[in-house]
Amino acid sequence: MIQTIWVTSFSEELYHATGKAMLDSFFKYRPYGIMLYNYDGDGLYVNSEHIINSLSNSLDVNPILIKFINDNANIIPKFFGGKAKKCNCPDPDAPKCRFHKKNCHYTYFNRNLIRWFKIYVGLNYVRKQYPNTRIIRVDSDCLFRQHISSDWLDDLFEDNDMVILQKVRPYPETGTTFYNFAGKNTHSLFDALIQRYVSGKFRKSPRWDDCYQLGTLKDKFVKAGNLKVKDVGGELKFHSDVVINSIIAPFLIHNKGTHSRVLGISK
Ligand SMILES: [Zn+2]
Repeated sequence: MIQTIWVTSFSEELYHATGKAMLDSFFKYRPYGIMLYNYDGDGLYVNSEHIINSLSNSLDVNPILIKFINDNANIIPKFFGGKAKKCNCPDPDAPKCRFHKKNCHYTYFNRNLIRWFKIYVGLNYVRKQYPNTRIIRVDSDCLFRQHISSDWLDDLFEDNDMVILQKVRPYPETGTTFYNFAGKNTHSLFDALIQRYVSGKFRKSPRWDDCYQLGTLKDKFVKAGNLKVKDVGGELKFHSDVVINSIIAPFLIHNKGTHSRVLGISK
């Protein structure tokens, strides 16, 4: 039986907004495996039963993240700890990034760069600490709905390196992603992804978010025969439908957009 680690990440604000309820649902239904959370800040805001029952990792002291913020301060907005100002494109805050110049640092996908990268710094830490495990990214705005057994996970993974939710979308919905780090392939993919960000190569892409970066890299690996991926996404295209219409839905729901649309946490 392969050990399974469910990995989430949050700041104090996100913990109170959604993370606490997600962890409560995890400990209510006790899916197979353990929970590890990556956190910003001092972590003192996490409830004691969550501290006792989970593993944790502080992102604030992560050297990869500290260096990345330093190296990219000129494109990370001030409200995310960088030095970048709003761009001069017409109507920079308009939805869908319609009016930005090519590669502008202030499109929705690009100005939130540090939010996306932070998640992978956390996942990267976990896969290095626990290299022969299955690691499941579960965003803090998800909720568990029933128990998930190790047999169910075996059936889901089969012999794949990754299980994703994508189907008709151009890029995967990464908020729920299943990684099998028991083999070499997924580690190679992760090495390449971290390297893309750390080297600054991501800046050449039109979008700096993880759906684009991980999605395009994954396609390349699959094409070269270096990654086996199973896609269990739903057939519909709309924002939240990718999980709702998948085989995951009876077990786990993703209230995607809660952070940005309802709480205004993403910028
Ligand atoms: Zn712009």
